[in-house]
Amino acid sequence: MERHYFDANATAPPLPTVVDAVARAMAETWGNPTSTHREGQRARHLLEEARRSVAAGLGAAPAELVFCASATEALHLLLRGLRPALGDRPALVFPGEHSACLNPLADWAVRWMPDDPEGCATVVQMAASNETGILYAMPGHLAVRIKDAAQAWGKVPVDLADCDAAVFSGHKIGGPRGVAVLWMRPGLPWTAVMEGPQERRRRGGTEDLPAILGLAEAVAELPARLARNAALAPLRDALEAEVLSWSPDYEVIGRGLPRLPNTSSLLLRGHLGESVQIALDLAGFAVSTGSACHSGSTKPSHAIMTLGYSEQEARSVLRISMLPGAAPEAVAALGAALKRILDQ
Ligand code: PLP
Repeated sequence: MERHYFDANATAPPLPTVVDAVARAMAETWGNPTSTHREGQRARHLLEEARRSVAAGLGAAPAELVFCASATEALHLLLRGLRPALGDRPALVFPGEHSACLNPLADWAVRWMPDDPEGCATVVQMAASNETGILYAMPGHLAVRIKDAAQAWGKVPVDLADCDAAVFSGHKIGGPRGVAVLWMRPGLPWTAVMEGPQERRRRGGTEDLPAILGLAEAVAELPARLARNAALAPLRDALEAEVLSWSPDYEVIGRGLPRLPNTSSLLLRGHLGESVQIALDLAGFAVSTGSACHSGSTKPSHAIMTLGYSEQEARSVLRISMLPGAAPEAVAALGAALKRILDQ
């Protein structure tokens, strides 16, 4: 059976140039960039070249980037490294944040937006919601403004001017899994929590050079990816209009708000998102729900409930996130399969 992948916000397939770069580097440039011999120096040279390319793509200086293994790791390093200097002053946090952000904040005094920012040491705001695709502006001019750009990267332009630190994930933009970027503005009161000589003593551990070289290839294709993602909006809108025409009980979360062009968060009242997702999977379509699986039990999404929806409504959400270049025929086939399933 032909498969159609509509779960781009979970991960995207690596680009062919990325696969080539990773394979070549694994075979040819396996030297340790910290070694002083020729193999090491060659690896070091390629590492710094990749850092310059990625920095240029982000509009940052190369020395401001720390390569990490995931955006989750980057957020942990960032928040744990800021904690000593920021002390016990509260963090103002967007309540729909990803768990990668909420987990390292577990022992912080947290105030939830839209609470008063007065007295907060930091503000934590995702640029785009992985679940609804809604875009968020960075609020205020507080001490340290942290942007989780993992989901926005490659789908909409990301601005570093309104924040002091940001995280980016390679596998969301057609790069390899296991590589991400932590960007920090110089002068941030941050200390390393994973010590070691690598990454200017900011993140210990031998750099994954093949993954970093693959990431540089994906970054080189970002302008084209942004354009291809922007072109998805009419396809998304047509699919949403069709779904809304089926029942007055159906809703598109965030409709009318600035959103990622590839994401539809469909609230299908009267249906369980998980059941619809499984039925679509059997029909050849990979989509997602507005729920997160934790050790076997499916919890309703806090990100949906934070928008004012009930637990039951949160369990009725289906997320469709298109890859750049999604074919109109595949989107039409998805719509037809979804209708068949909802009509049963
Ligand atoms: N932040 C957001 C908004 C995300 O969507 C994700 C991944 O889904 C992450 C952080 C974590 O990214 P990674 O998979 O690189 O750890």
